[in-house]
Amino acid sequence: MKLGIMGGTFNPPHVGHLIIASEVYSIFELARLIFIPAGDPPHKENRQIIEAPHRIEMIRLAIWKDSRFEVSDIELKRKGKSYTIDTIRQIREFYGKEVEIYFIAGTDSALDLPTWREPLKILSLVHFVAVKRPGFPLRRLDKQYKRRIIPVEHISLNISSSDIRRRIREGRPIKYLVPEAVEEYIRKNKLYL
Ligand code: ATP
Ligand code: MG
Repeated sequence: MKLGIMGGTFNPPHVGHLIIASEVYSIFELARLIFIPAGDPPHKENRQIIEAPHRIEMIRLAIWKDSRFEVSDIELKRKGKSYTIDTIRQIREFYGKEVEIYFIAGTDSALDLPTWREPLKILSLVHFVAVKRPGFPLRRLDKQYKRRIIPVEHISLNISSSDIRRRIREGRPIKYLVPEAVEEYIRKNKLYL
């Protein structure tokens, strides 16, 4: 089975996440794709990250109409800092070693890969798909990583959660940058103000 997974903080989820997921799903003919939000950072490391229940609920609202997509709380359930390698191992345990995992990331995350725990092990266990993000060219990545990454370059969106948070603080519109239900949820719960 070909399984897509996409990790992130999703603070909040936006249409960039959905468009990229949908594109990779179709290119690689995935069977399903799971969004995996990261747990809350320890010691309020980053106070901008709102609590996990809000983030997971917003992902649910963003994907509920799309039967290709699911959301998982495996990183939220794990205590302490979550490492991608642990998530990948857990998924392989659950689905069996034959599962073909497509790990979906933006090129900004791909450039960080050398700082992750066991990056080469990760690359040996999954197909690492890096979707082009403006300002983050993969050529900056060391060859030993780069040659094992599958680039997706025909799509490039300048949409980010940080920009969306900034817009909310400044009272600027976020319409069409997040699904309508997510926008409503943010407004009702007065998030990111
Ligand atoms: P923030 O600005 O808070 O970092 P973000 O928009 O980068 O938010 P994340 O939750 O950090 O969203 O991203 C989850 C994953 O999705 C990461 O691998 C990230 O690189 C990727 N991603 C998010 N937005 C885009 C985009 N516009 N193009 C390509 N990849 C993206
Ligand atoms: Mg990010």
